[in-house]
Amino acid sequence: MAALDGLPPLRDVIARHGLDAKKALGQNFLLDLNITQKVARSAGDLSDVTVFEVGPGPGGLTRALLALGAKKVIAVERDSRCLPALAEISAHYPGRLEVIEGDALKTDFESLAPEGPVRIVANLPYNIGTQLLINWLMPRQWPPFWQSLTLMFQKEVGERIVAQENDDHYGRLGVLCGWRAEAQMVFDLSPQAFTPPPKVTSTVVHLTPRVSPLPCDLAKLEKLTQAAFGQRRKMLRASLKSLGGEALLTRAGIDPARRAETLSVEEFCQLANLL
Ligand code: SAM
Repeated sequence: MAALDGLPPLRDVIARHGLDAKKALGQNFLLDLNITQKVARSAGDLSDVTVFEVGPGPGGLTRALLALGAKKVIAVERDSRCLPALAEISAHYPGRLEVIEGDALKTDFESLAPEGPVRIVANLPYNIGTQLLINWLMPRQWPPFWQSLTLMFQKEVGERIVAQENDDHYGRLGVLCGWRAEAQMVFDLSPQAFTPPPKVTSTVVHLTPRVSPLPCDLAKLEKLTQAAFGQRRKMLRASLKSLGGEALLTRAGIDPARRAETLSVEEFCQLANLL
């Protein structure tokens, strides 16, 4: 397809640099620049914004972010084969693309964050997507260093991220995300949008941080949600038995006959604070 930025089509870039997709690296590339622009646009106004991207690969989303006016993109890529292709984008946008070769799970994004607004936008490798999201929701300081997260997940994971009480997909991830952020699914992408196509539908999720999340200790909240959702069909008096069971629930004014999926994020925080 015609490029929006005068750079060569992504198929040519992939062929020239021998970037055959590696499954172990979660490589499902977006080659249609209309789609990468749509993802980039979901992140909002990028002028004056530094964008952190994880896994730029051959650079389809990176190019969209730069073409849409991001002040700078700092991209972390594990696959060294992609670096020459990304260097061509860097040369096309002098001073606006910094590529860090490395593992995003080991990258301290918080200390890399420059002055000024930061947004995180990525078509994530699915095998590490949830862990990266949890890391970004748990920075050392709150409000966090990012203004928003715009991330591609498998649709099933997206549903768990945005789920609220009484949803089928509500669980530990929904409680954690709901505690720290407001999350919404923006649009779905069919497997055919990617090369090679994954087995499942994908979805873009947009998260913005809550200014003042309820005070709550993460370790306690995790302990609680693990016990409660570990046996989600049981009444809370049984699933939370080892953490105080009926007595704990009564102190919080919560009916011990309720089940985990009916508890709001606020109620989980309230219980965690009583542990
Ligand atoms: N952004 C590109 C696109 O949209 O076409 C590629 C997305 S592909 C789903 C995921 C990318 O993440 C790949 O380029 C892969 O090499 C990279 N990747 C995989 N594991 C990584 C890790 N631990 N740290 C950084 N990048 C990683």
